[in-house]
Amino acid sequence: MSQVLPEGISSDAFFACADAIVLAAKDLAALGWTPATSSNFSMRLDDAHAAITISGRDKGKLSRADIMLIDLSGNAVGTDARPSAETALHTQVYRYWPEMQVVLHTHSRTQSVASRLFATQGVIRLEGWELQKAITGFHTHESVLEIPVFPNTQHMPELVAQVDAWLDAGKPLHAYLIDGHGIYTWGRTMAETRRHLEALEFLLACELDLRRLSA
Ligand SMILES: [Zn+2]
Repeated sequence: MSQVLPEGISSDAFFACADAIVLAAKDLAALGWTPATSSNFSMRLDDAHAAITISGRDKGKLSRADIMLIDLSGNAVGTDARPSAETALHTQVYRYWPEMQVVLHTHSRTQSVASRLFATQGVIRLEGWELQKAITGFHTHESVLEIPVFPNTQHMPELVAQVDAWLDAGKPLHAYLIDGHGIYTWGRTMAETRRHLEALEFLLACELDLRRLSA
């Protein structure tokens, strides 16, 4: 399946994004965070386009041919490949924050278990952890980092609306969990986004351990 690029997007720019996604996906798959072809990754190309993983591919074995171009409404551009089923959650981030360049979504066991455990509260409140400082804008462990947990649905507009409602309430948002599903986080570079994802995975694992040990 070939990708035709529109005027204004060079093959160098597209392949740079594709290669960065492939590399991140390989690392995250090796950690076991993308089981059974789940998870999806994207990177902004310009103010109207992003590169995203094609639906259903093994994230540990991606190549450039598994990455496609979309517009920020989630439509395929220059290919008849099908983007990830959750593309609307990626494009929502790019439309809301012009500075965000990367969205990573994984389904690790820790993320999945934490999402179930905290689903009834609808939020995980992280406080007192040094590693909160890995999230851009956090400078002390004394701050509170709230990660909402949204109910899962296969109907993407509902999920998009839940994220919008959180943002419309004026609450900071750096990541969110979907109940029984996984996590979304984003950043201004691939390195920043991977740091967010790694820190959140670690913090969620710590919260789960605390509950296990204090039961
Ligand atoms: Zn997912």
